[in-house]
Amino acid sequence: MTNMTKTITLPTAPREFGLYINGKWVAAQGHKLFERCSPAHGVPVTRTIVGTEADVNTAVAAAKTAFEKRRWAGLSGQQRGDVLLKAAALIRERAEELAVLETFETGKPISQSRGEVLASAGIYEYAAGAARMLHGDTFNNLGDEMFGLVTREPIGVVGLITPWNFPFFILAERLPFILASGCTVVAKPSDLTSATTLIMAEILTKAGLPDGVFNVVTGSGSTVGEVLSHHPDIDMLSFTGSTDIGKRVLAASASNFKKLSLELGGKNPHLVFADAQLEDAVDGVIFGFCFNAGQCCVGGSRLLVEKSILPKFEQLLAQKLSRLRVGDPLNPQTQVGAIVNEKQHQTISDYIARGVKQNARLVTQGNVHASAEGLFIQPTVFSDVTSDMDIATDEIFGPVLAILPFETEEEAIRIANDTIYGLSATIWTQNLSIAMRAVRSIRAGRVWVNTTISGGPEMPSGGFKQSGIGRETGLYGVEEYTEIKSTHIALGPRTHWVS
Ligand code: NDP
Repeated sequence: MTNMTKTITLPTAPREFGLYINGKWVAAQGHKLFERCSPAHGVPVTRTIVGTEADVNTAVAAAKTAFEKRRWAGLSGQQRGDVLLKAAALIRERAEELAVLETFETGKPISQSRGEVLASAGIYEYAAGAARMLHGDTFNNLGDEMFGLVTREPIGVVGLITPWNFPFFILAERLPFILASGCTVVAKPSDLTSATTLIMAEILTKAGLPDGVFNVVTGSGSTVGEVLSHHPDIDMLSFTGSTDIGKRVLAASASNFKKLSLELGGKNPHLVFADAQLEDAVDGVIFGFCFNAGQCCVGGSRLLVEKSILPKFEQLLAQKLSRLRVGDPLNPQTQVGAIVNEKQHQTISDYIARGVKQNARLVTQGNVHASAEGLFIQPTVFSDVTSDMDIATDEIFGPVLAILPFETEEEAIRIANDTIYGLSATIWTQNLSIAMRAVRSIRAGRVWVNTTISGGPEMPSGGFKQSGIGRETGLYGVEEYTEIKSTHIALGPRTHWVS
């Protein structure tokens, strides 16, 4: 653990939040409360309402009324964009408050939270422009007696279920695009990390968002999430989380044929070819599996290395990892913070034990550390991993790397695609032909070449195979939340069917 001066103090009492429905806070009275402790320090930091089915129904009714009265959909793209731009400015004003709460609830390093909050403001700004770019198509080639219009309309009321790993950033990758399209929303953040989503609701009202357009019901997935995914007045559901719960949501959506956008798990490979810039690749691989303590859907948890460079690569990896700063997330120097909760900490520890039991070779020994100080796990690297080991197949969601050596390009691609997932992949080589062959062959929604987990809101994100359905961000991310309508307009007198 690093031991440097802290610049932020822990709260003496948890901050309390209500629900946010129809442009107002709903007070906690009469509700059960959930107390969230900082996973890095073990002290209570926030208290939120455990929402009920009745709360979801109230929020959905508010969102439905706002949609049907066209309070938001009836505005111009420019007006919607103005609200999103004001919201971005308010995020920047409240950036420190948001970042500190994000770190208190997630355990991620404060420097990272600050970066994510500011990057989120940038996404709202991008989506403000996208609100003005949304358009349809015309068909002027249907003959003189017909004219065709293809228009995009907001799909309606969207249920938005988000996870705990990037509470504010994942919200930013979805919400402003949904709002840009003209839809209204009922959001359910993870009960572990609800604070910044609730503050976003307050920010949006202040920025001029009409009442009822964005509502937040906190609480458990088994109640609030289930009710949202079955609700007949929810037209579309955007879900980010595990593949298992994604399957439940998919089944529940059949009740009224909700449109779905699912961003689920991944077991994402890094492919390092012998000609790669090794120092860069080592750094990228470490960032890929340690960023956010490995609790990252696009994190690179499988490392495929060309056999001829494996010993050298392992040596460089171990050397660099020894300099990684793991510890108190309130310390601005920290690079890897705490694991989100005891359950996740236990899951990761169990996988490390299984890796040892299944005879993978430890390159760096993960120090599993759960004490009064908090829940930490030092990055752990296994080599000589084979495809049948659990650490090679399962999404662990922790700082654990499984190295699988390969001898040929074909073998590398085969191993990379040997997974039920298809969220992302990263390729390290200086040879453009190798890189492009890999880009074309790997079945994943996002591929990076000589970099990893980078990019902006311009490019869409989403998964192949069991990593999801649909795309978020970019103009695709706005279009995803629209229905397409074809309008046929007859010109001139009608040729009668019945004479
Ligand atoms: P979950 O899939 O359980 O949770 C994601 C969201 O769904 C949370 O808001 C959760 O609520 C909600 N939820 C839970 N059950 C239901 C349900 N029956 N119906 C509707 N919504 C529900 O992920 P976890 O947070 O438990 O994380 C477990 C695993 O999921 C991780 O180990 C990782 O593999 C994966 N994951 C993937 C992410 C990604 O970005 N692709 C993000 C986070 C996790 P609540 O938690 O409040 O009960």
